[in-house]
Amino acid sequence: MDSNLPGSNPPDSQPAVRAEALVDLAALRGNLDALRARTGSAAVMSVVKADAYGHGLVPCALAALDAGVTWLGTATPEEALALRAAGITADRARVLCWLWTPSGPWEQAVTAEIDISVSGEWALREVLAAVRATGRPARIHLKADTGLGRNGAQPHDWPALVAAARAAEAEGLLTVAGVWSHFACADEPGHPANEAQLAAFREALAVAEAAGLRPEVRHLANSPATLLMPEAHFDLVRAGLAQYGLSPVPELGGPADFGLRPVMTLQARLAQVKSVPAGHGVSYGHTYTTAGRTTLALVPVGYADGIPRHASSTGPVWLGGKWRTVAGRVAMDQFVLDLGGDQAEVGDLAVLFGPGDRGEPTAEDWARACGTISYEIVTRIGVRVPRRYVGALGGALGGTPVERLEGGGG
Ligand SMILES: *Cc1c(COP(=O)(O)O)cnc(C)c1O
Repeated sequence: MDSNLPGSNPPDSQPAVRAEALVDLAALRGNLDALRARTGSAAVMSVVKADAYGHGLVPCALAALDAGVTWLGTATPEEALALRAAGITADRARVLCWLWTPSGPWEQAVTAEIDISVSGEWALREVLAAVRATGRPARIHLKADTGLGRNGAQPHDWPALVAAARAAEAEGLLTVAGVWSHFACADEPGHPANEAQLAAFREALAVAEAAGLRPEVRHLANSPATLLMPEAHFDLVRAGLAQYGLSPVPELGGPADFGLRPVMTLQARLAQVKSVPAGHGVSYGHTYTTAGRTTLALVPVGYADGIPRHASSTGPVWLGGKWRTVAGRVAMDQFVLDLGGDQAEVGDLAVLFGPGDRGEPTAEDWARACGTISYEIVTRIGVRVPRRYVGALGGALGGTPVERLEGGGG
């Protein structure tokens, strides 16, 4: 195989650049297979909002299609339209988009055959205006607020919304393709909100049925509910974090316990290595001072690249086969490691996080070090960090992996 093809690079190969996020698309496909093995007849939606949680929207969506997925989910309409612009046509994948405002691209979405979430009558009016303007019927998913308190119609507004949507459907203006909702506490099994939300969702479905709606898909489950609540799978589950190989319930199990493998490895090359005397201050504010003569290594990524400033003096980094800890403050573009008695060379590879099988930290380790969740660690990796894709199949749109990378990007 040509060694220039992305799929042929081993995941631990050296980056040719300052820093990179290596994205293992074979792992992503494997994770989707593992999720589908749990969901039986329920389909899996690949949630690719927020640049696929920082992994790259189009390459990840194409990998999901390669894995046999036929549903993609985004928050913003711009993300959904970007999938269509990348050539993912409606016969390849339904795309559901759920975070709308009155100023949104409603007409473009109807034209692009994007499924539109509707949480209130204002949104239904926007959809119907777009249907009249484009002369094309829309597909909508009615969203019920079953307890999260975010988007979705409250129970007292639900019957009127359902009736208005059913009337528009009867006129041929739209299809109610889905009825759906979202959990608040699915990562806490046994939390009373879970049973309450399931019951409220069943009630919302009953109201919709009684009004004559026959949605193709009823969906409620996110990653934690996909892993822990089979009774919440209905016709479709919406998997975000789990498809990227991270555990949504780290207290209950790591990725491997659920058959998942982390997709992203974040690594950088050392930009400076030098010996300094005892008592030398390190980075802004001198919050860290060397205990004795030691070697400092400069890692050229900082909070502009998405490394949390909260990782100052706590973030773990794997260098030379050992865990190190960030010494002093994370700056905008760089931070420092104190290697103690160990040596390193400028250009050596520092791995911030990865799957963990070589001993390197994971995104979950960074989340714990920074007091956050792994969702935030991967999603916040910035645009200045190039994504490098390995393990692409090249099947989804019939192109070669190289062509697909040029069309994708992070
Ligand atoms: C982000 C999101 C998901 C995916 O959540 P995960 O916990 O990452 O699986 C599903 N549904 C909605 C509405 C979301 O906003």
